[in-house]
Amino acid sequence: MNEYDSNRIKDLIKKINYTPTESLDEANCYILNTCHIREKATEKVYHDIGRLKKKFRNKIKPIVIVAGCVAQAEGDILLKKEKYIDAVIGPQSYHQINDLILSAEKNSKHLNFTEFDVVEKFDSLNFFKNSNNKISSFLTIQEGCDKFCKFCVVPYTRGAEFSRSIKELIVEANQLVENGAKEITLLGQNVNAYNFKKKRISDLIYEISKIKKLLRIRYTTSHPLDFTEDLVEAHKNFTKLMPLIHLPVQSGSNKILNAMNRKHTIEEYLETIKKLIKAKPNIKFSSDFIIGYPGETQDDFEQTLKLIKKIEFINSYSYIYSARPGTPASFLQAIKLDEAKKRLKLFQNNADKIKLKYKKTLINKISKVLIENKVKNENKYFGRDEYFNSVIVKSDNNIVGQIKDVQILQINTNTMFGEISSNINQKDYAA
Ligand code: SAM
Ligand code: SF4
Repeated sequence: MNEYDSNRIKDLIKKINYTPTESLDEANCYILNTCHIREKATEKVYHDIGRLKKKFRNKIKPIVIVAGCVAQAEGDILLKKEKYIDAVIGPQSYHQINDLILSAEKNSKHLNFTEFDVVEKFDSLNFFKNSNNKISSFLTIQEGCDKFCKFCVVPYTRGAEFSRSIKELIVEANQLVENGAKEITLLGQNVNAYNFKKKRISDLIYEISKIKKLLRIRYTTSHPLDFTEDLVEAHKNFTKLMPLIHLPVQSGSNKILNAMNRKHTIEEYLETIKKLIKAKPNIKFSSDFIIGYPGETQDDFEQTLKLIKKIEFINSYSYIYSARPGTPASFLQAIKLDEAKKRLKLFQNNADKIKLKYKKTLINKISKVLIENKVKNENKYFGRDEYFNSVIVKSDNNIVGQIKDVQILQINTNTMFGEISSNINQKDYAA
């Protein structure tokens, strides 16, 4: 979502004649768009500003703005502690970034724009064409969260759930496709909680799939509790909807899920998975895990290991629990860091084995790869298959934006390598 926000900021600043630059030495304004989901985000801000200070030691000081969720959560502290920062702006206020830059130009100092004005934000953004021109583009459809998991800062930094209107989303989706997008990923902290005047994400997928030149639709991140029947059905009905679902479960233990306030059980989670497989047999899953949540015993952890072996997630994103200031879990007794690290390592070894085993099944099969870009200085192209696996292929022709049948020849944990398949009669597709 920060990538989407940064792109919108790039569109906004053009109005006051600022343009994005690749050269860090040339910039006269820096906007650090930050994430606060796990620790170290604030330290990273101080570290980046330290580097800027060095770079500009004998030059005119650039304007420095901290945007995003660190600004929202720690704005005043940042301004007090680091005088080099001119302003902070929260994720629901960035439509006002031009006012902030213009005030900072006039030497106004220590400005704090951290209002929650999400309606006004999207109303303002609708006046600016989304100029993102990536083959695979993001589209924020929903923001914020009302679920209040005990470990999470999102309800405090992004605010309450808000869904954008279907009409404005169709306009923006069309803009992205006109700019060259072939794939759109619908974004939200709880994307499947989307609800605009009773219209659900499945209704939006139906509308967006009508855009002829759009080839693929994805969405992230879903919450198990909001996985309603209509969305399950959508996977059956819409071929443009990709057969990979990112469905964070966090833990395999009902005790821990309850302590986290996740509001569902493992049995309910498995039921959703079962329904989805029934609706679309080639569907696969990825998930997020928090390891070492306060109160997690060896037995709870082993239940998490059992779960990943059962579902065979093709990608598992795992993190050690990180206490976030102000969240209810931050007042709980943490488990020993050494123990959490040991569990994380074991978890990741298991998750990698599962991933590798799955990827080996793809060797010599044909994957449908949407080519996103050319690899710099080589006759190679980067793309992703339907399951979001990265694939590299050789080609002498420009194939960006096309879906190619690629025979997978080699794999490693992160990337697959293949060649464009021309033998139409003998295609053994990966499923
Ligand atoms: N809304 C989605 C859900 O509830 O499934 C997840 C969105 S959350 C922004 C992204 C991921 O960050 C979570 O799935 C969780 O694994 C991780 N996360 C959030 N807070 C965390 C914390 N305090 N410590 C470690 N990981 C955390
Ligand atoms: Fe955070 Fe997701 Fe829980 Fe909302 S549902 S509080 S975004 S982890």
